[in-house]
Amino acid sequence: MSKIINIAIDGPSGAGKSTIARAVAKQAGYIYIDTGALYRAIGLYSLRGQVDAQDQEAVGKMLSDIRVELAFREGEQRVLLNGEDVSGLIRTPEVSMAASAVSALPAVRAFLLDLQRDIASKNSCIMDGRDIATVVLPNADVKIFLTASPEERARRRFAELEARGEQVTFEEVLADQKQRDYNDSHRAAAPLKQAEDAVLVDTTGKDFEESVALVASVIRGRLEQAAPAEPAPRPEKKERAPHTKVKYNFKKFTTHAFYIIAMPFTWLTCKLLYRITYIGRQNVPKKGKLIIAANHISGWDPVFVGSAMVRVIHAMAKEELFRNWFVKAVVTGLNAFPVSRGSGDRRAFEYALGLLEREKVLGIFPEGTRSKDYRPGKAKSGIALIAAATGADIVPVAIWSGGKPVRAFRTHVVVEFGKVIRNEELGLTDGKKASELRSATRKIMGRIEEMWEKIDENYAR
Ligand code: C5P
Repeated sequence: MSKIINIAIDGPSGAGKSTIARAVAKQAGYIYIDTGALYRAIGLYSLRGQVDAQDQEAVGKMLSDIRVELAFREGEQRVLLNGEDVSGLIRTPEVSMAASAVSALPAVRAFLLDLQRDIASKNSCIMDGRDIATVVLPNADVKIFLTASPEERARRRFAELEARGEQVTFEEVLADQKQRDYNDSHRAAAPLKQAEDAVLVDTTGKDFEESVALVASVIRGRLEQAAPAEPAPRPEKKERAPHTKVKYNFKKFTTHAFYIIAMPFTWLTCKLLYRITYIGRQNVPKKGKLIIAANHISGWDPVFVGSAMVRVIHAMAKEELFRNWFVKAVVTGLNAFPVSRGSGDRRAFEYALGLLEREKVLGIFPEGTRSKDYRPGKAKSGIALIAAATGADIVPVAIWSGGKPVRAFRTHVVVEFGKVIRNEELGLTDGKKASELRSATRKIMGRIEEMWEKIDENYAR
């Protein structure tokens, strides 16, 4: 079977993405996926039900009543809303505005993410949208950011709407478009931006054929560049058995191997240096996405938690650690990834979401920084935000050193894994209400504190 090729095209509305992408896809024999139609279908549903498209809570509730699917008839995408083909009803200016409003809500984006990834994983496709290269398909084979000047884009949209008999003026179209451009690029959730590795294609002043030819040649060029030189056939070797054909991603494999080999050593080190006691390791579910949340008393904490070897943990670590090449190599080998503290680091946030989506375990210190008195302190809401966006359950972990600094050969460390806090227990709806996020964070940290106090009663001398 030939390799599945995914091409991501992002850009502002009216840049000609859909018409150009559709034509290029046809030439190349790929399917074309217009992700805007998915947001439009949700916008339409909100208009029909008179749900305020900006009301996160109402839209969040509404989502549980919606099923959005894509079907392909004669190579054309159709969008089905609860089984109804609404493809012909979602191109009006009202639906455009409603789509733009609902698309700013993280709950809506999360709702549509799997559907988009699922299609791309099964089909060679050109997918267009706003966040395809940055969020939906960060590993796309080719990434294009397609744009044109605002006036040119509005002119094209106006001609399209006029041809369809819509009663609009050019000024209205331009104003609507500027508003949508603003919404798309200023929203917190997956804003429209050019991916670092995307090719910028500007179609201002180019007609349709020229634009198609330009995009097609960018794609060809990129695919040729990426294609490894065909390996010479090796007839002397027999066809290998199918099970040996599994392709390892070498980097991933080595990283994983390092982690697996390193962990028993860290366990031994922890045992020898800190007389570490682990409690409740059985509380960690064996499978599925999970957040492990621990209080933070020392630089050794990721090792204390990781050395319990409950599962492979990907821990968020302060980016300062990644500045020194040696430390970087070690912490990367231990699956940590950098977060810049105090700035609401979007990349780290998105990486964390990606991990959980792939059913991995995210390790996080909700306090963000080490506590000065070696006991659980005040947490930041980042953990609740991640829990809201992913629906992951949480295992609270208390790390105890008797309220004292952690010193080799002197400190007894106890690491307790608590009972799972189910995501539903956190009372999170869409991850936007600050009060909800605060209360969920308090709940998690409260659990850690309770465990810490119990350990203190039992172990303090
Ligand atoms: O591309 P189109 O104009 O049909 O998209 C409708 C709306 O859906 C856009 O205004 C944009 O806000 C949103 N959208 C999005 N992410 C995508 C595709 C569309 O936010 N991947």
